[in-house]
Amino acid sequence: MPKNHICLYPDEVLKIRAGEIGNIDLEIIDLAEDMKNIMYTAPGVGLAAPQVGFSRRLILVDPTANKEPGNLTTLINPVIIEQEGSDTDSEMCLSVPEVSVDVPRAERIVVQGVTLEGKEIRIEAEGFLARIFQHEIDHLDGKVILDYASHLKRSIYLKKRKKGKL
Ligand code: ZN
Repeated sequence: MPKNHICLYPDEVLKIRAGEIGNIDLEIIDLAEDMKNIMYTAPGVGLAAPQVGFSRRLILVDPTANKEPGNLTTLINPVIIEQEGSDTDSEMCLSVPEVSVDVPRAERIVVQGVTLEGKEIRIEAEGFLARIFQHEIDHLDGKVILDYASHLKRSIYLKKRKKGKL
């Protein structure tokens, strides 16, 4: 199980579509617990399982993780079922250190998924919270913020990474 390791782009696990979770077994419960510790230690406002090396559809989101942790949502197999509006803002990612990218996102979304207790839920989110959900769900589809960046920004990052500077 992961301890505090965050996979960095271009690790392969960050570029592939993560698998649906069928059974919420002990492995998934442990994974969610480890991810929680990793996310709050970083700290980050969201984390997706591929970022810790597990290609499964599990995300954690806490919009106040930096200031006052306690608004944690853990969601299995999340799907955006409604979206509205559009807004562009800069985003950072624990898997793409020292980079910020302007990313267009829907302004309001409804996301559906399953809790760790196996209950199906729907969450309405807007603004920053909606943005985090969309960022984390992107990870489950093998997409990172660099996919929204210019070729130049992308190649600068990849060069730095190759030289071991990140
Ligand atoms: Zn990210």
